[in-house]
Amino acid sequence: MGALEAAVAVLARAADDGATVVLSGHVQPDADALGSTLALAEGLRRRGARVTATFPGPFVLPESLAWLPGAGALVSSDRLPADPALVVSLDAADTRRLGDVAAVLESAPVSLVVDHHASNPGFGTVQLIDPDAAATVALVADLLEGLGVPLDGTLATCLYAGLAADTGSFRFGNTAPGTHLLAARLLETGIDHARISQRLFDSAPFGWLGLLSAATGRAVLEPATGAGLVWTWATTSEAAAHGLAPDHLEALVDVVRAAQEADVACVLKGADDGSWSVSLRSRGSTDVSAVAQALGGGGHRMAAGFTSHRDREGTIAAVRELL
Ligand code: MN
Repeated sequence: MGALEAAVAVLARAADDGATVVLSGHVQPDADALGSTLALAEGLRRRGARVTATFPGPFVLPESLAWLPGAGALVSSDRLPADPALVVSLDAADTRRLGDVAAVLESAPVSLVVDHHASNPGFGTVQLIDPDAAATVALVADLLEGLGVPLDGTLATCLYAGLAADTGSFRFGNTAPGTHLLAARLLETGIDHARISQRLFDSAPFGWLGLLSAATGRAVLEPATGAGLVWTWATTSEAAAHGLAPDHLEALVDVVRAAQEADVACVLKGADDGSWSVSLRSRGSTDVSAVAQALGGGGHRMAAGFTSHRDREGTIAAVRELL
């Protein structure tokens, strides 16, 4: 039995039993983590399972994702049902990315890990891990098909959000013929993809422009570091001063990585506790997942990240060293 068939079998059994199932994406969930969680939760619900969808604390949903169908029914990870028969991890590259849900997964009799990160070491009792999948939502689409759940606008909206986000709106190298075929199936349900993209990528409070100006204004170009490094930083308190939630820091790297003199773009996002959440992007010649993994994180060749408890200079020095 292949990995997909094994995963479908585990989900189908839970649905047929009307079992209690907990689904979770990774900490600070993005569109792929939430889209895959919400789509699979809804599919399993339609098949008869008792489903709770969550993500690891802090239980704060980015405004750009709070509108996803089913997001209002997400449950905080400290209020999960006791003794679920099955726990499903979605888009989490390792157990650390599951935060406080990791213990729930580890104590469940059966756990299913659905992911597309090449750095995923493999955890859980059943695994559907495919680094060739453009997004975790693509694997969820296969699972829903295997479960016999037809796609409709609700499911397609969640799946499309993850697919568009993880492929950079079908611009990144992970976009394959199958990615477009899936997108076509999703569009055929009648979803308003332009509106979805606008809400995901092109909507922010006016204060975003001020934060962007400050962060890009202090960007540093280091052409001699590796194949070239461009980096900058911003903090959650600085975001707050511009009237922005912390998740608005996530989009900074998408602007910074345009600097063509640098193969690697790096944005240090300072949290209130003094730690730095670091985003790395490559233009192609550097494997940033190797850098992130060496520093305790993970991700993909072209996009990766890690958390640092050093100060700002110490953090960028560690990145510089590895490049
Ligand atoms: Mn993903």
